[in-house]
Amino acid sequence: MWGRLCAAGRQRPPRRFRSLNHKSWRWRSSSVHERALRYRIGEQIHGFTVQQVTAVPELFLTAVKLSHEDTGAKYLHVAREDSNNLFSVQFRTTPMDSTGVPHILEHTVLCGSQKYPCRDPFFKMLNRSLSTFMNAFTANDYTLYPFSTQNPKDFQNLLSVYLDAAFFPCLRQLDFWQEGWRLEHENPYDPQTPLVFKGVVFNEMKGAFTDNERVFSQHLQNKLLPDHTYAVISGGDPLNIPDLTWEQLKQFHASHYHPSNARFFTYGNFPLEQHLKQIHEEALIKFQRIESNTAVPKQQLWDKPREHHVTCGSDSFASDPTKQTTVSVSFLLSDITDSFENFTLNLLSSLLVGGPNSPFYKALIEANIGTDFSPDVGFNGYTKEAYFSVGLQGIAERDIETVKQIIGRTIDEVIEKGFEEDKIEALLHKIEIQLKHQSTSFGLSLTSYIASCWNHDGEPLELLKIAEKVSQFRQCLKENPAFLQEKVKQYFKDNPHRLTLSMSPDEAYYDKQAKTEAEKLKQKVNALSEEQKKQIYEKGLELIALQSKPQDTSCLPALKVSDIEPTIPLTKLETAFAADEVPVQYCAQPTNGVVYFRAVSSLNTLPEELKPYVPLFCNVITKMGCGALDYREQAQQVELKTGGMSVSPHIIPDDSHLDVYEQGVLFSSLCLDRNLPDMMHLWSEIFNNPRFEEEEHFKVLVKMIAQELSNGIPDSGHLYASVRASKTLTPAGELQEMFTGMDQVKLMKRIAEMSDVKPILRKLPRIKKYLLNSDNMRCSVNATPQQIAQASKEVEKFIKGITRSKKERRPVRPHVIEKYSEPKATGSETLNCSQIPRKLITEPTFQPCQMKTHFILSFPVNYIGECIRTVPYTAQDYASLRILAQLMTAKFLHREIREKGGAYGGGAKLSHSGVLTFYSYRDPNSLATLTTFEKAVDWVKSGDFTQQDIDEAKLAVFAAVDAPTAPSDKGMDHFLFGISDEMKQMHREQLFAVSRENLMDVANKYLAAGKSTRGLAILGPENADIAKDPSWVKR
Ligand SMILES: [Zn+2]
Repeated sequence: MWGRLCAAGRQRPPRRFRSLNHKSWRWRSSSVHERALRYRIGEQIHGFTVQQVTAVPELFLTAVKLSHEDTGAKYLHVAREDSNNLFSVQFRTTPMDSTGVPHILEHTVLCGSQKYPCRDPFFKMLNRSLSTFMNAFTANDYTLYPFSTQNPKDFQNLLSVYLDAAFFPCLRQLDFWQEGWRLEHENPYDPQTPLVFKGVVFNEMKGAFTDNERVFSQHLQNKLLPDHTYAVISGGDPLNIPDLTWEQLKQFHASHYHPSNARFFTYGNFPLEQHLKQIHEEALIKFQRIESNTAVPKQQLWDKPREHHVTCGSDSFASDPTKQTTVSVSFLLSDITDSFENFTLNLLSSLLVGGPNSPFYKALIEANIGTDFSPDVGFNGYTKEAYFSVGLQGIAERDIETVKQIIGRTIDEVIEKGFEEDKIEALLHKIEIQLKHQSTSFGLSLTSYIASCWNHDGEPLELLKIAEKVSQFRQCLKENPAFLQEKVKQYFKDNPHRLTLSMSPDEAYYDKQAKTEAEKLKQKVNALSEEQKKQIYEKGLELIALQSKPQDTSCLPALKVSDIEPTIPLTKLETAFAADEVPVQYCAQPTNGVVYFRAVSSLNTLPEELKPYVPLFCNVITKMGCGALDYREQAQQVELKTGGMSVSPHIIPDDSHLDVYEQGVLFSSLCLDRNLPDMMHLWSEIFNNPRFEEEEHFKVLVKMIAQELSNGIPDSGHLYASVRASKTLTPAGELQEMFTGMDQVKLMKRIAEMSDVKPILRKLPRIKKYLLNSDNMRCSVNATPQQIAQASKEVEKFIKGITRSKKERRPVRPHVIEKYSEPKATGSETLNCSQIPRKLITEPTFQPCQMKTHFILSFPVNYIGECIRTVPYTAQDYASLRILAQLMTAKFLHREIREKGGAYGGGAKLSHSGVLTFYSYRDPNSLATLTTFEKAVDWVKSGDFTQQDIDEAKLAVFAAVDAPTAPSDKGMDHFLFGISDEMKQMHREQLFAVSRENLMDVANKYLAAGKSTRGLAILGPENADIAKDPSWVKR
């Protein structure tokens, strides 16, 4: 995988700012902290020396910093009362060319190592472990290998595999060919077919740069920091990747993946000493210190601003094809190792661009000349020196100058006027709530939070002391009210290191790229002797033979099915009725002083013609203003009083009938205990007095939504394909496509293009009438036990305050059934589960039918989905199909689609709706992959797999089933899906019981050709074979 870790917008994990509320925090006497606090500075443990021990109460953690004596390897351990333990090792990888050497290396070290020489131990461990996370990332200046698990034995197993992969990889030539690049015959068996470039990273990067936001971000970093490693593409430029040699790859490994260039991080409640011992003995003891020479020098500052213009592929979904230009102005800030300066600049950036009240939102977004901010807007702290960027996308080329002028003017205004105190308070409140909100992947967030700063020898412990930073920040403001304005002057107004970057589409962009690639290919091929050509042919066959050879994986450590917990812990839920009719589920949890309120409202009475607009309604209903508040004041209140309020469509298939489903809208929100009355008041106002009059603001929101949807296609193409492919298989599928599929993307595009949006805006109050009332509603609250009574009062008040329809509204579809989750007594034990009625739609006459759709897009790669209607959640066959999907993915599809086919990913999965989906992602093949899906089924039917394979599939499925749940999400399966703990336990037992016969049986029964109805969809370029075939619908 490759990404500018955290920097790429959509995939960005929440940035971790923290502050401290001294009063609410109690130091819990805990063995984890006591143990960590006992370490003494200078103490020697397994080759390491303790350098620092620091308690950070606001994060409930104690950090221990060490260094390895013989090699200089750095180590940070974070002890915390959390069973989801994490390990990561990070190397500073600073390439000086765009061959993608760090990225290809990241892939290749995972292809086998000295102790674990079998092919691809990393992927194999996914099936031999209960890991909660396993991955590898290439950022622009480091490479990170993290995993997490709740099981101590699993931790040791994974650590052993990770250490061996990173420090003692085989790096075989064939691995390099498979993962990096190679010349191979189009059909490797036929030497008459032309030679082409193949390779996983080669294709991955071709796919990555179909995302125009990524193209822009990449150019931005390359051109703003042009002196050293940031001037190149660490992931690899597809046109430079074929310049990399196997020798260079091995050399890069030797100089960069060395303990002297490594940073180790461990997190959780497992003892540190065991980790140190294993890392010392299995890896570090075999090395001597080297001089690593990987440091990034300071960027030479410019004496005057620079400008660049670049081109990209045209966006087939742009709402206005003449407005596809992006422009931004970026400013180089301070060194990221200066943690307070960066904390301040990060806050300052949020004040400048965050939310509808920020100066740049008002000046740029509301100027209504673009669709959304430019990529990487705001603070970017993932390079040695941070930068701030602001601009617009979706503008006309002639507006570039206008945007530049607006930016300059806005900076002047901020320097003159400063920021309102309320805005600063809202931001500090946000830090407080983010600090208290408990996530299940805290260790992972922490390792990515400190990675960049630590990578440049900054002090990671300093970053964790958020409370200190907040008080220091407040102090600075108190001493100098113009503190922030002076920073704006220094870093923006008076800063000559400033880049204006613009990008516009070129119709011929992909053609030109294909031509350059073809020339490169020709060059390489022409230089080959007959002898070399013969070798290429033979190597191609050798690679296939190797990929197809059954693997002996017995060298790898593995958990057993018996290591899986046989039963699940029960979640205690209670249900009460608010205002005597609305069911409210209460779940008392250690939520750390945060209340989570959710509600579901039914769509059953909504007229059909309004339905396509439900996602739009959801998107804007919390952003248009309510009661006495206009949209700006509302945004301000939401920021000051809550951790977020959002609304989304909610389609839930039934657990026992495929043609039954629930349709509704989900309201979600969180706030600090003390702010609950304010948050519920905001909900009341949104329900009772939403405002729909601000047409200009509505237009702005619509454009942003349309832009976001179209930008998301390169990353989520396989999801769009799958949603489309299952459209005609179940009644819920059709609604799913309407709400989240390509139909929705196209609808939003149409609306964004309208010169008059009034007809659309007028639909919103109509939808409101059917949705925002208490007729068909249920609520849920997760809070600390002490807070439940107060919460119940607030919910009661809220429900009583919202309108109930005067006349009974009839459901639009005639068949509605009321359903309760059914808690049954098992033996003497009664499961603690409350009943909540849900009104489901049933379509007894529904006929699934086959449909094949090809969405023709300008991308050079395909996204494929093939869906098959199977059985609902509670059926025994569902459990078998779930294991089967995992088995096919791990033992067949991964090999065929990724290793041999060169796609970035592919597999099979069974969704909650009972639809089994085969998919591929960034796939150079199209129809050939469909044949591979068929072959996967034949493979299962032939029974060519072992009991070990089945056990591994079970482990992988249980790793997902038993993934940790945050206190905020406990009880949600029951509230949202109607799935009780008892049903989950039943499903668990069904999963344990799945046998070889079951697997072959369900493959025959549902997946064999002609047995079930299936749907197909491909997103991708023009395709001659599909064009000829009339059974495909082309869109
Ligand atoms: Zn990758």
